[in-house]
Amino acid sequence: MIYFSQRRLLRSLLTPNLVCRSLFDIPLESLSHSGYNAIWLDVDNTLLGAEDRDVSLNTQNWVLAAKSLGYSVVILSNNRRHYRIERICNQVDVDGVFRAMKPFPHSIRKVARQRQISLRRSIVVGDQLLTDVIVGNWVRAYSVLVDPMDKKLSLFKTVQREIELFFLARLQ
Ligand SMILES: [Mg+2]
Repeated sequence: MIYFSQRRLLRSLLTPNLVCRSLFDIPLESLSHSGYNAIWLDVDNTLLGAEDRDVSLNTQNWVLAAKSLGYSVVILSNNRRHYRIERICNQVDVDGVFRAMKPFPHSIRKVARQRQISLRRSIVVGDQLLTDVIVGNWVRAYSVLVDPMDKKLSLFKTVQREIELFFLARLQ
């Protein structure tokens, strides 16, 4: 049996502030007017497909546009492959963290401290409820859930996605 307070805690961790189809639908300008000034980006299935090697020109331009609005942009990926994340950071010309261990907030807090980024004024973007959204809500940032870019997910990811959609439907 889940008590009311636990349910409320779960809901506050699992409910994104915003659900979008892709990065391009995030209202960067109005969020900037509301005081947000940093964006933490997931990589796989958010910035590019998990099997893709290169960030599309459109996405590169989106990152440029975010920077020109005054946002600090940081990559926060759970991917263990250092060379992949470094390559992608270079493509979009931003700093990044690999093996970030989301949903645990250690990495994001550490980098925020180092770079003097306010997490309360941050937007955390990703395609997974159980990692990206939880870490964003955990540190009280503005959490944005985007659709995964790969429509064909692996079996594990499909099961995870189903669980996430179940939570989304139940909690909203
Ligand atoms: Mg992802």
